[in-house]
Amino acid sequence: MRIAVLSDIHANLAALESVVDDLPEVDTIWVLGDTVGYGPQPNEVIARLQGLGARSVLGNHDGAAIGIVNPRYFNPDARAAIEWTAAAADSNARAYLAALPEVRRDRELDLTAVHGSPRDPIWEYITGVDIAAANFEAFDTWLCLFGHTHQPIAFRSTDGDVEVTVGLPDTRVVLERDDRYLLNPGSVGQPRDGLRDAAYAVVELDGSGPGAIEFRRIGYDVDHTQSLMRELELPYRLVERLSYGR
Ligand code: ZN
Repeated sequence: MRIAVLSDIHANLAALESVVDDLPEVDTIWVLGDTVGYGPQPNEVIARLQGLGARSVLGNHDGAAIGIVNPRYFNPDARAAIEWTAAAADSNARAYLAALPEVRRDRELDLTAVHGSPRDPIWEYITGVDIAAANFEAFDTWLCLFGHTHQPIAFRSTDGDVEVTVGLPDTRVVLERDDRYLLNPGSVGQPRDGLRDAAYAVVELDGSGPGAIEFRRIGYDVDHTQSLMRELELPYRLVERLSYGR
């Protein structure tokens, strides 16, 4: 069983298409929220995910775009972009976002998926081992996939001791059955770890045996996304950061 794990696509269709082209053969695609916001093509990205049959959860930007999440923690650039997104979203996109769950659990795969964290799926950022340790108490499956920080990372809990592996490109982490994991694939559409290539991950599961996560990167046409954003007059800083992955 192979699962492609994508998060924080942020309406960046060029980045999503590069990831889709780069995917190995997978059985299913999971998306960890923030499908829209910041980027220029929310309707196209949602239609593409629908075509792929992706299983998604709700992110803070997704909820804010349709008025069900209060954007109180948004900085001015994020707020300007979400106002544009709310106006641009077509009826299909709005219906899609409105139907997304905050938490998705698959008992057969022993897997939970959220955007932020299991104890606060919309807003909490899992940025370090202390926050991760507290969150291992908040889900009851072997694995929990999360996004929101835009940082590829794996937290492993061994009897409550949490250890971290940064998801550098081509890093592969074995997932032991006796441990539990919080796993973030990084961001497809707005990486923030200093690398501009789109980030995603592939999780391999093998019955009741150990599994693995592979952190992957693929380049995409950053200039194309940036020129669309400039035409739409999306905030300058949001355009620029895509060049640097910051
Ligand atoms: Zn995000």
